[in-house]
Amino acid sequence: MAQNSTTPNSLAPNSSAPNSPASPLPISAIVIPVTPYQQNCSLVWCTQTMRGAVIDPGGELERIRNVAAERGVTIEKVLLTHGHLDHAGGATGLARVLNVPIEGPHQDDLFLLEDLSRHAKRPGFSESESCQPDRWLADGDTVTFGAAELGVRHCPGHTPGHVVLYHAGAKIAFVGDVLFAGSVGRTDFPKGNHAQLVDSITTRLWPLGDEMRFVPGHGQMSNFGWERKTNPYVSDLALGRD
Ligand SMILES: [Zn+2]
Ligand SMILES: [Zn+2]
Repeated sequence: MAQNSTTPNSLAPNSSAPNSPASPLPISAIVIPVTPYQQNCSLVWCTQTMRGAVIDPGGELERIRNVAAERGVTIEKVLLTHGHLDHAGGATGLARVLNVPIEGPHQDDLFLLEDLSRHAKRPGFSESESCQPDRWLADGDTVTFGAAELGVRHCPGHTPGHVVLYHAGAKIAFVGDVLFAGSVGRTDFPKGNHAQLVDSITTRLWPLGDEMRFVPGHGQMSNFGWERKTNPYVSDLALGRD
């Protein structure tokens, strides 16, 4: 699933619109592709307090910490979308060195998190450790860092415990391997379910609005409206809902 992202990629949600309101948006984020799978780890922070969270630290922990230091962000939490190695492998190590809690995913991914240390001999995954989150997440929960708050949607299908995190005001979602620009998550892993994945996308992501931009677990950003028009797996046309 490696795609073509390379260096840290600023989302700059508060500088993109020419007519943006005078008050800056409450969060900012930067994408840091990590591991041999170029997984889109995100550093997201509250612009008011400069306190933030790392979403899906699959590995390359020193690099993630360096990006946070360069941006002046104090990491106070690790957040996980799901239990796959390239997303969650470094969570335990990062949480330990920073002395911060791990929140997410949904508890149905426990079977994956318990097993992560098994992969530590794989090239590029030496930091992988099994993971016991401090808090499981459920649909409708919120997570906080600084003065900012993200909403939680439980989106099973790629894995049973996959969650998506979003900020309604900044119109940005971190969707892990549920949805990609032009594609959807694989469902050929243990406990994957394609029909359930499509249901998660159409009933739990589309209601967040066409304007919602998203950082997928791999590859380029997109927004829900564009995917509803063009995605061959979940467009309204492909699903016969046009
Ligand atoms: Zn995955
Ligand atoms: Zn992935």
